[in-house]
Parts: sequence; C-alpha cells; structure tokens
Amino acid sequence: MTARRARGVLGRYRIAAAWLMLSLAGCAVNPVTGRQQFVLMSEEQERRMGEDAYPVYTQMSEGEFPDPGLQRYVAEVGKRLAALSHRPNLDYEFNVVNASEINAYALPGGKISITRGLLTRMENEAQLAAVLGHEIGHVAARHQAAGYTRQVLAGVLTTVGVVALETARVQGGDLLAQGGLLATNLVLMKYSRDQERQADELGMEYMTAAGYNPEGMVQVMEILKATRDREPSAVEALFLSHPLTSERLARAREEAEFQPRRLKTPERLRAEPFRKATAGLRKVAPAYAKMDEGRKALAKGKAEEALRLLREATDMAPEHALIWAFRAAAEAKAKQTKEALDSAERAVSLAPNLFRARFTAGVVAFEAGEHDRSLEHLAAAEKLVPGQPAVAFFRGRNYEARGDRDAAAREYVKVLKKVRKGPMAKYCFQRLSEWGYIRTRG
Ligand SMILES: [Zn+2]
Repeated sequence: MTARRARGVLGRYRIAAAWLMLSLAGCAVNPVTGRQQFVLMSEEQERRMGEDAYPVYTQMSEGEFPDPGLQRYVAEVGKRLAALSHRPNLDYEFNVVNASEINAYALPGGKISITRGLLTRMENEAQLAAVLGHEIGHVAARHQAAGYTRQVLAGVLTTVGVVALETARVQGGDLLAQGGLLATNLVLMKYSRDQERQADELGMEYMTAAGYNPEGMVQVMEILKATRDREPSAVEALFLSHPLTSERLARAREEAEFQPRRLKTPERLRAEPFRKATAGLRKVAPAYAKMDEGRKALAKGKAEEALRLLREATDMAPEHALIWAFRAAAEAKAKQTKEALDSAERAVSLAPNLFRARFTAGVVAFEAGEHDRSLEHLAAAEKLVPGQPAVAFFRGRNYEARGDRDAAAREYVKVLKKVRKGPMAKYCFQRLSEWGYIRTRG
C-alpha cells in the first residue's frame, strides 16, 4: 500500500464520521432545563462513546491510582451525588487516575475521573463533592452531547500523541525520555462561560442536597486559584476546559451564603473521613513529587540527575508501577539497558494492565535485543490502547530485527497511516521504499 492510498483511506474515514454526525443529529429534551435542545448524540450513543473512551482516557492519565480503598471511596461519594442529579439513571463511573496534573473531567454518559494531582491538594470530602458535583452537572445538562466532543473523542481514540510522535526519535531511550508520548494534558472540550456557571450551580445543588457544607465549593476554587499562581502549568488543562474566573468564585461565595445554616458546620465538610480515605495517597505523595522532578530533569536531558531522583522515588514507594516505568525510561536514556529492563519488568509485574508500563517494557526489551519478550509486552500494550503508532513502530522494529520483512512492513504501514512527519515516519517510509513496498517516482 502506498502512502498516498493510506491518506485516501483516512480521508474517507473522516468524511464518513462527519456524515454520521449530521445524520444522527436531532432534538432532545434537556434534562436540566426541560427545554428542547439540538444535540448531536442520542443518549445511547453518549453511553457507548463514554464506555469506549473511558479505558483509553484512563490509560492516557497513567491508569488508576493503585489504591482500591480510595477508588471505592471516591466512587461512593460520586454515586451519592449522581443519584441526586437530573440524570440519576446513567451508569456513572468514577475513578482516581494517576496523572500528576491537576484535572478532573467527565466523558459523555457519566464516566468521571479525578487526578491524583488534584486529590492530593484537597482537604475534605465537601471539596471532593464540589468537584465531582460540578462534573456531574456537565453530564446532567448534556454539555458534552455537542459535536465538538464527539470529534475530539474520535480523534483522540485514533491518534493519541501523534503530535509528540512527529518529533519522536527512533532510539527507544530517547523516545521514552521525551515522555510526552501519551497526551496527559487532556482537554476534552472548552465549556462556555454559561456552561461553567450552570455546572457550578448544579454542583452546588447536588452537594448541598447530599448534606455537604457549601463552603467546600468555595474552598476548592480557592485552592485552584492559589495553585494557578504558584504552578500555572499544573492546572493548565483544567483551566482550559473549565475556565476559573473571579466571577465564578464570587458567585460560589454568594451561593454558599444563601444555603441553609444547618449545612454550614465543620462536620459537614467531612474532613476526617477524607483524611482516612486519602492516608495512603498522602503517604506516597512525596515519592510522586520526586518522580515529577525526575521527569522534568529527564525532559531537559539531565539523565544523571533524573536517575538519582527516580531511584529515590522508587525507594520511597516501591509498590508503584508508574514510578518504576519512569525510572526505566531514565535508565534507558542513560544506556543502562540491563537496569532499564529490570525496572520495566518490575513495573509490569506490579501493574500488568498499565499501558505505560507495557509500552516502556516493550521498547526497553527491544533495545536489549529480547524480541519475543518485547513483542509480548507490545501486544499487551496494543490491547490496552489500540492503534497507537508508536506501538506499531516497535513491533515493526522487532520483526525487522528478526528478518520478517512482511510482518515489519505491515506495522510500518500502520505507522504511516497516522504519522506523516518526523524521524519515525521517515524511518518507516525508507524501509518500505528499500524493500519495494512503496514505489517512488523518478
Ligand atoms: Zn466545568
């Protein structure tokens, strides 16, 4: 297959997707306002879209934070609020994802995630209820049921991290050190000012109906505002999708003012249950802070410093696969192949279903010449997040190293269907030309 034909296939897919969107558009009654609303997604499509995208988004956010007790706790708080919402009958799901960035997002159909980074900065359950209530508000008012999300979701599902791959090197250690392979700064959609105002109002309504102190909403907005002043990059994604204006904060204060006095007690902030549920999270927070420093050093090319920080981080939290995966990346970059392989295998044994662990192990094993093992990890990575060009690329490299050109060529074609620029695409194109799979003019 030629690169030109590959482009044609992709173009047809886009046209089909656009046609599908238009043909499925219709009117529906908005559950919050009771008014007719033009939407691009039926409830059933919304549900299916959310169900397909949720596992991928969770992987892109570095998987679930490994603490089943905390996951249960957050889901319980979320489900209590969802049951009081305008759409109580959706299959809501809540999880804590392991990304360090401060973020929370809702997918269509009621799939809601909050990051470790955001949860680490909170102090009580009322703050958590405010954030989850706000996200449930977006779902209840069907803010995502517009075409934009649909397009964004479809795009993300097929081409995670393509922009990063256009600059990605073909050396495994360099690729892993770049770290931006998975887009962790998830911006699902930009909600409008009106939608934000409505989600705030609904969040307040649901959290107070559940008996929480409304001050939780004000407190969490103040935490986010203070974080933005100190570390603007950490909150970038959240503020892109949910702009925090001074008007929002003032309204939250005003709304909290009008809530019944019986709710405004310290007990209704529920600091103690929150403190208990997040004890494990707070214990490993310093290890993750070290990991983030190590990632920064690695991105700047300071491999030695990155290695020191990441080794300290794994010493502090040896059960956390994500930290081992980044340590493996630092070791690979420092050309310590054997150590990298050990760290990557450790990450996989701790979290066999973590895409980053599988992908890192696949790349590192390839560099070590362990092609069977590498292909095994990459097959697992492919199952977790299907269709990633970087996975296809390293599968191809393994086949090529084994002398299986047909199998390698198939993988390189997959890469070229998604990535057109940069060293990786160039590598695939060159091989396919050399081997006669692509005819070049002249
Ligand atoms: Zn919002």
